[in-house]
Amino acid sequence: MAREWVNWSGSLRFTPERIETPDSEQAVAAIVQRAAEQGRTVRVAGRGHSSSPLVQTDDTLASLERLQGIESVDTAAHEATIRAGMTLQDAGEALFEAGLAMHNLGDVNVQQVIGGISTGTHGTGRKLPCLSAMLVGGRMVIGSGEVIEFTEEQPPGFLQAARVGLGVLGIITSLRLRLLPAYKLHRQEWCTDVRHCLDHLDELVARNRNFDFYWYPRSDEVKLRTWNLPGEEPGDLPYATLVEDRTDWAHRIITKKRTIRFDEMEYGIPAEAGVRCFLQVRRRMKDVYRKYVGWRLLYRTVAPDDACLSIAHGCETVTISVHHNAGLPFEDFFRGIEPILRDHEGRPHWGKKHTLRAEDLRPLYPQWDVFLQARQHTDPQGVFLTPYLRELLGVPVSEQARAAAFAGR
Ligand SMILES: Cc1cc2nc3c(=O)[nH]c(=O)nc-3n(C[C@H](O)[C@H](O)[C@H](O)COP(=O)(O)OP(=O)(O)OC[C@H]3O[C@@H](n4cnc5c(N)ncnc54)[C@H](O)[C@@H]3O)c2cc1C
Repeated sequence: MAREWVNWSGSLRFTPERIETPDSEQAVAAIVQRAAEQGRTVRVAGRGHSSSPLVQTDDTLASLERLQGIESVDTAAHEATIRAGMTLQDAGEALFEAGLAMHNLGDVNVQQVIGGISTGTHGTGRKLPCLSAMLVGGRMVIGSGEVIEFTEEQPPGFLQAARVGLGVLGIITSLRLRLLPAYKLHRQEWCTDVRHCLDHLDELVARNRNFDFYWYPRSDEVKLRTWNLPGEEPGDLPYATLVEDRTDWAHRIITKKRTIRFDEMEYGIPAEAGVRCFLQVRRRMKDVYRKYVGWRLLYRTVAPDDACLSIAHGCETVTISVHHNAGLPFEDFFRGIEPILRDHEGRPHWGKKHTLRAEDLRPLYPQWDVFLQARQHTDPQGVFLTPYLRELLGVPVSEQARAAAFAGR
């Protein structure tokens, strides 16, 4: 029976014709094959933490939540293969048992690993790339329903497309991850003000393994957060008050639980433009939105990588995100801030609110066409494409898709 699907923030609701929860790769393949034969589409969802309509569909929505567990571990190579339904939290604990850990995490760990990877989810740290950089291979059900394997070498260049794949190349059923030996981090949080934060920003970014800051728009207060390997902390900050001080294994201490729901817009911009862009966003928030927006702004750093659609593709990146309470109208606020982020060559986070479409996006990604070619290769009929995704990527309805849809009727 059709039932409504709602994302985490509640800003996205739709009723797919059916929701499938396959319990094997074979079952995933059968769902895709049936859709291909009928000229229908399939979207795959992770934990519904994206608020852009990537998974929205009138047809079949699949969830791989029943594909759980670690398939294999190569301790010497620091690699492991996991099934696609695992969340960051569950994978973090299971990998820890095997003495391994991810190089970084974002703010929460409730997403699926593949859900996070597929939108270029990132944490913070000048030398730490998006989570997608962990992906070094896997298995994927492509548009015909066939299963392919991919590695760092084969098919050539495919991994760079698959790393931030938006679920349009195919449905990944297992993921090979390159990891680190398990490690601890010392987390510290400090309160100060915008002036002190900006005066010391370069050294905070350079000297801490992970560093970010929150600015609270109704005041000049700033929360600095640092995470370092124990013994490698750069020292006290005389201009800030220490308010949190804990050490634990990385997978337990990078993230926090978020209970208050929100909608968010986040853009990545070239690192050298970070402060200039922040100051302009701050000015506009104070001038126009302060009365009704109390949510903080988050400023992070991401290392460059080679994924075709990564927010940090080939570029040291700063990300700036703005938030608004779930349920409150966010559109005016986000639309008022977005042009500033775009003026700084901003690339939007694929899983958060933004208004860009193919014609705006293509110039931002040097490997855009490489991604589209890979997509065309794995799904020429467009089984994984919805009208939104066709517009987002600039993929018109092909003759093949038209013919398949016709045959299915
Ligand atoms: C509270 C909160 C905190 C967040 N913190 C951060 C943060 O710190 N940093 C950051 O960068 N982002 C952050 N995000 C954004 C979030 O990480 C992304 O939106 C992420 O993609 C959500 O993962 P998910 O498992 O919910 O997947 P979904 O949102 O359900 O899906 C995301 C994408 O993954 C694809 N996908 C899912 N499964 C598969 C599969 N098996 N094969 C192929 N494709 C697949 C989907 O088709 C879709 O395109 C946050 C979001 C929230 C709500």
